[in-house]
Amino acid sequence: MFQKLLIANRGEIALRILRACRELGIKTVAVHSTADQEAMHVRLADESVCIGPAPSSQSYLSVSNIIAAAELTDAQAIHPGFGFLSENADFAKVVTEHGMVFVGPSPEHIQVMGDKVAAKKAAIALGLKVVPGSEGEIENLDQARELGRRIGYPLLIKASAGGGGKGMRVCHDEVSLESQLSWASSEAKASFGHDGVYIEKFLSHPRHVEFQVVGDAFGHVVCMGERDCSLQRRHQKVWEEAPCIALSAQQRDQMQNMVIQAMTRFGYKSVGTLEFLYENGEFYFIEMNTRIQVEHPVTEMIFGVDLVKTQITIAQGFPLPFKQEELSFKGHAIECRINAENPKTFAPSPGTIQAYSAPGGPFVRVDSALFSGYRIPPYYDSLISKLIVYGSTRQECLARLDRALHEYAIDGVKTLIPLHLSLCQQPDIQKGDFHIRWLEDFLAEQQKNES
Ligand code: ADP
Repeated sequence: MFQKLLIANRGEIALRILRACRELGIKTVAVHSTADQEAMHVRLADESVCIGPAPSSQSYLSVSNIIAAAELTDAQAIHPGFGFLSENADFAKVVTEHGMVFVGPSPEHIQVMGDKVAAKKAAIALGLKVVPGSEGEIENLDQARELGRRIGYPLLIKASAGGGGKGMRVCHDEVSLESQLSWASSEAKASFGHDGVYIEKFLSHPRHVEFQVVGDAFGHVVCMGERDCSLQRRHQKVWEEAPCIALSAQQRDQMQNMVIQAMTRFGYKSVGTLEFLYENGEFYFIEMNTRIQVEHPVTEMIFGVDLVKTQITIAQGFPLPFKQEELSFKGHAIECRINAENPKTFAPSPGTIQAYSAPGGPFVRVDSALFSGYRIPPYYDSLISKLIVYGSTRQECLARLDRALHEYAIDGVKTLIPLHLSLCQQPDIQKGDFHIRWLEDFLAEQQKNES
């Protein structure tokens, strides 16, 4: 049993982990930059340590400062949350080398899935179908041309080290292939420090459907269904749902069995998500995230399971508390990502929260570290709140979401609440008829109508 756990993160996810720890009777250590002195996760933790100045490279990404904070406070485990060091295999290794537990999978599993090319190869070896494309990184223009002729345009050029929706470029024809390739690899070098790129067929109207898995140290793996995260802007998720209404129970069962088999063979231990693009009845693996995800609450809502607590107890060495046959879901859940951004231009909108009032009522959950008077620092991600609602049907869920969004008051900064309100009114959204490009088409249309 851990007595004390250090949370190597900030914002709502730090709070989410803190809540899980408190319910498990584990003391918490918050770490923070100088810009987060007043943050909610710092206020609520049992102890806190300042780990450096505002830029995350000198604080939330500083392995040595975080390890020092953990040693100083005698923490036995470190939870990385998402983003920052959560998918850094070296960090996971260093934590273990210092005699502490990393709340996540093994460094080897993080390593394989963190490199997108290696991840695709691993997925193929584990029996999963991937998007047609290059087998490894592209070595020269001729190889790319040959591939383009074989699989057809448009192509998507992706950075092997990419993440967070960055480092992707669509190429529509052979004429622009050379320039797009060199653009993509210099962009990859600048953003990720590695210029390797690979190519995939660019699927035109797929849905993004991802499966939640949990494995323990005893070789047991379960799958808690899927989430539909098709509503995206610039390859970043904005709205997530569970279940995906485009799937039949039979398709879900088949996919669940497939990912359970794959992850059992892989020997995966911890929570993880396998992401697929789903088009014309086929699932194509795109990547695996070896951490808790932003959108995990929608799965928690329909399965009635606490994924973060499960993740922590597995890291403590306990077996999974349930078998696959004991898991079932009910109803529908939707999560809206509320970013401090202009809902039209998406420009970041940091500033001070003048007044704050969160929605309530039955089956409404707000995962946020906001409070009245809080100053949103300009240094970090603009996600400030996640509104998650549950309904016994999707229709009820949408009506509840609409009313909760109306109740939500965040004064002082611009947020995406108006965008989510307008999404609730769209017939396609109401029917559940959308794909990964739907939101960008909708935004473009709106802009056209306004100008
Ligand atoms: P990241 O790690 O940067 O999030 P992913 O590989 O998970 O990158 O892809 C993010 C999003 O980009 C997907 O959800 C999807 O919308 C889009 N995408 C990725 N691969 C393809 C593809 N082959 N065709 C069309 N869209 C894609």
